[in-house]
Amino acid sequence: MAMLNIDNINVYYGAIHALKGISVEVNQGEIVTLIGANGAGKSTTLRTISGLLKPKSGKIMFEDQNIAGIAAQNIVKMGISQVPEGRRVFAHMTVLENLEMGAYLRSNSKEIKADMDMVFGRFPRLAERRGQLAGTLSGGEQQMLAMGRALMSRPRILLLDEPSMGLAPLLVKEIFSIIRDINATGTTILLVEQNAHMALSIANKAYVLETGRITLSGDAKQLAESEEIRKAYLGG
Ligand code: ATP
Repeated sequence: MAMLNIDNINVYYGAIHALKGISVEVNQGEIVTLIGANGAGKSTTLRTISGLLKPKSGKIMFEDQNIAGIAAQNIVKMGISQVPEGRRVFAHMTVLENLEMGAYLRSNSKEIKADMDMVFGRFPRLAERRGQLAGTLSGGEQQMLAMGRALMSRPRILLLDEPSMGLAPLLVKEIFSIIRDINATGTTILLVEQNAHMALSIANKAYVLETGRITLSGDAKQLAESEEIRKAYLGG
């Protein structure tokens, strides 16, 4: 059984039919990526999983429970955490306070402290800047903070929305290597990216979205080699 099974969901923004029967499967331990152009529906898919949008029809099975339409904070409690597009850290709070916010649904302070140490171990730059206001961090550091904050809820699956957006190539490499590490220590990853090249290089499986529909899916390495993907998403 897949850990997360999105089954034929339809999602609307008012009259706009944003997702037209999307189905996606994520198995425990995998990195799965959704790629596609601007406006294809990638963020909408993540927002629907995390409970910010409710599908008009279809199911989202997280293990044996249909989570479609469940309130966002309950979805976080179940072990699904999203890192939103554009980071959205709390600019006027310190790094430490931002991380504490990520644990706001938890109460075991010993465990929270242990996870804080884990995050600082994974992101040494955040440890150095723990007292600094988040708004004064660089783009790459803010991305790390947003990821660290999501990890503070101890997710079983992490939803990442365009972590490479606006970052210099070296930082993109660093962020992707961190994503790989997070996965290697047991967290399942669903990654939305416009940078198809990087996304396909770390993913097990990939889905291509075009205007609200999945047009291609399969093994990430195979898709990276396919003529269609190379032409449309990898610059020839
Ligand atoms: P991007 O990389 O730009 O985020 P995306 O693939 O994530 O692209 P979505 O943001 O999911 O695409 O958008 C899918 C469709 O839904 C687009 O046609 C978009 O214009 C529309 N849309 C997204 N958000 C809203 C909203 N809040 N209200 C109305 N329409 C929206």
